[in-house]
Amino acid sequence: MYVADSKRYDSMQYRRSGRSGIHLPAISLGLWHNFGGVDNFENARAMLRRAFDLGITHFDLANNYGPPYGSAEENFGQIFRKDFLPYRDELIISTKAGWDMWPGPYGDLGSRKYMLASLDQSLKRMGLEYVDIFYHHRPDPDTPMEESMGALDTAVRSGRALYAGISAYDAKQTAEAVKILRALGTPGLIHQPKYSMFVRDPEQGLLDVLGNEGVGCIVFSPLAQGLLSDRYLKGISEDSRAARNFFLKKKDIADGTMAKVQALNVIARERGQTLAEMAVAWVLRDPRVTSALVGTSKVSQVDDNVAALKNLKFSVKELKKIDDVLAGTHPSQRAR
Ligand code: NDP
Repeated sequence: MYVADSKRYDSMQYRRSGRSGIHLPAISLGLWHNFGGVDNFENARAMLRRAFDLGITHFDLANNYGPPYGSAEENFGQIFRKDFLPYRDELIISTKAGWDMWPGPYGDLGSRKYMLASLDQSLKRMGLEYVDIFYHHRPDPDTPMEESMGALDTAVRSGRALYAGISAYDAKQTAEAVKILRALGTPGLIHQPKYSMFVRDPEQGLLDVLGNEGVGCIVFSPLAQGLLSDRYLKGISEDSRAARNFFLKKKDIADGTMAKVQALNVIARERGQTLAEMAVAWVLRDPRVTSALVGTSKVSQVDDNVAALKNLKFSVKELKKIDDVLAGTHPSQRAR
């Protein structure tokens, strides 16, 4: 029987999500990879246990996480029933709808029909009465935003979700969504954009909108799917995401990118961190970022990512050095 570590709240940091009442752990765990039907169930279970023992109170899912689609929610449901039932009120569990899930015109994008049916399916797979956050997974340019936001509002009013979130909306779409949700009386709790040293789009206006509107921000793929770690410093190992050559491609492990990764690794070591730790700390340097949403394939990666919290401070000089490396203008790169 699993009994959570009594010291689980001693060292994790919690950040308020925008101007809401909810605090999220600075590091959250996502179940996109390594929790599906094709994966090792006991490894998935061990990672969730370790995460909770370290104060990670937030687990992030979506309808189509697997593979196969839906199986991460099914596995999570099983683990939840075995290990986490006594801790339901200590957990923030999220799911999403917005990408392709089932065939036909009602299993994708942003209609009210799809989103609410999908949420009902997710709840059934996880065996939950409600999720804490229900997200629209991506904007749907062909459905009126009022309809998709109306579905989030219904999800909350009907008790299937406690809070509403959006993901992958750009700055302008976010401003509009926030306005609609507020008018409906269900303020948006949080936005989930992609953000890392390699993907800096949220700096082009999105973070400003979120900061001004008082909406939280949980950033996904802060390690750029593992690129921003020591995972690929010595090539592509068989058990890595890039070896599967699907979401992270072998061609992404290119010389130019790896030269940057090597240089970033040197900076991380100078800070006394692993590169993964520095990558997590780097996204958390902005106070508008509520949480870094990481994925893991091993318990040791959960530990490593949480160790980032030991050093979240960056000097101006360090930030400049990182920017120079990313721009390819750092002296060490020119010498190559
Ligand atoms: P990361 O950028 O954190 O990449 C995770 C991968 O990096 C792991 O699977 C592992 O790769 C490697 N890794 C993690 N920690 C370490 C470490 N300490 N040392 C070395 N390697 C490490 O995030 P993900 O891309 O997995 O995304 C995280 C979560 O964000 C998802 O689970 C999901 O919840 C959410 N997400 C949301 C999206 C959206 O559209 N809203 C889209 C994508 C993700 P390996 O498996 O090779 O060991």
